[in-house]
Amino acid sequence: QRASDYVALSVETLGVRLGDIPAVSERVGGDPANWRIREVGDGNLNLVFIVEGTQGAVVVKQALPYVRMVGESWRLPLYRAHYEYYALVRQARYAPGVAPEVFYFDKPQALIVMEYLYPHVILRRKLIKGERVAELGETLGRFCAQTAFRGSELSLPSPEKKADVGLFSGNVAIPAITESLVFTDPYYDAEMNHHTPELSAVVARLRGNVALKAKAQRMLMKFTANTETMLHGDLHSGSIMATDASVRIIDPEFSQYGPMAFDLGMAVANFLMAYFSQPAHRSADELAAYQRWILEVIAACLDSFDAEFQRLWQTERRGILFPQTLFEDQQHASDVACQALLDEIREDALAYCGIEMHRRVLSLAHNADFEEIIDTGLRARLETRNLLMGEALIVNAAAYTKTTALVALAETHN
Ligand code: ADP
Ligand code: MG
Ligand code: MG
Ligand code: MG
Repeated sequence: QRASDYVALSVETLGVRLGDIPAVSERVGGDPANWRIREVGDGNLNLVFIVEGTQGAVVVKQALPYVRMVGESWRLPLYRAHYEYYALVRQARYAPGVAPEVFYFDKPQALIVMEYLYPHVILRRKLIKGERVAELGETLGRFCAQTAFRGSELSLPSPEKKADVGLFSGNVAIPAITESLVFTDPYYDAEMNHHTPELSAVVARLRGNVALKAKAQRMLMKFTANTETMLHGDLHSGSIMATDASVRIIDPEFSQYGPMAFDLGMAVANFLMAYFSQPAHRSADELAAYQRWILEVIAACLDSFDAEFQRLWQTERRGILFPQTLFEDQQHASDVACQALLDEIREDALAYCGIEMHRRVLSLAHNADFEEIIDTGLRARLETRNLLMGEALIVNAAAYTKTTALVALAETHN
């Protein structure tokens, strides 16, 4: 076997294949033959192993040449692991301590060895269980602001940023998934769609809303054409791992250059879906307080994004955009320009948010918050609230740019 020949790892072969790589063996420790190896990939796409030895543990993630949740018939390039690696490295620089640390990367094998996050669990599970996480919204808002700002020409030297856009533009297959599954499929009878049967009337209403479809396509156009910063690209509550007091973000294999608003909008959408699904998961005595907490997380996420972005604007504006030479050096404040940009980001984030709320109920990949509701009548009632709020956000985003207005809109639909 040549080094360049890709072979998928297994629990049986992992120790032999990675046992003499110091970055792995020194962290795991002991005889590789005695490593405890579990495959834990619960995602839609990849192999993920937890490898434990006498010293510690690492996670090994390897891309598969097809879409795991669909099967070998849907081919997907291995190179997505390269972009995940590039993104993890950049996120560590832009927002230290949030993404898992990378210990080793093998490009031909499309595998990444990284920090084992423990005792973290997937945030979506905690939200379904009704558990709280300290500083959740603040951490996410700061992460989105730091990656948005520091990955853009507000911060980066222009040649470096343009070279990076070039690097990431080699990734075609992954953005194509988002372009169809997120932005397009919800609004027509796409082959891989599925939805709760009782939703037929509301689905017809959404597909009949021309203004909605036009806005969704305009947001897709911004998503494909606007390369202002490096995105995570898949920032849903299944890409967030948490304890009660620690928040980490994994799985940036959908990373691409795109609009600053995209990650923020997707994250907020996943909290709104958690919010609307709660009546199926909580007893009556816990419901109101827990839903209130989710709305507080959303508000904290949005407001922390703005506060951190403003802080970086004041202290780290070193790129070609809005240079000090045009403002502060001429005794002109630039806060108005920053606020105008933040207003635009907020409005676009709400539209992306609405689209994500639609696709998770109507397109291929649903989320457990709704999917685990067995009573389809109840599920459809809760999904309808989510779909109608999503519609309002897409068509009329500008009306909800104040955090209080967004929270009120959620309460109105609940
Ligand atoms: P996919 O791209 O296939 O969705 P993920 O990166 O989301 O794969 O990983 C799948 C699962 O593996 C996660 O839901 C999580 O349970 C686990 N996992 C992934 N990375 C880590 C990590 N660094 N530490 C602990 N668990 C992890
Ligand atoms: Mg994942
Ligand atoms: Mg469903
Ligand atoms: Mg993934």
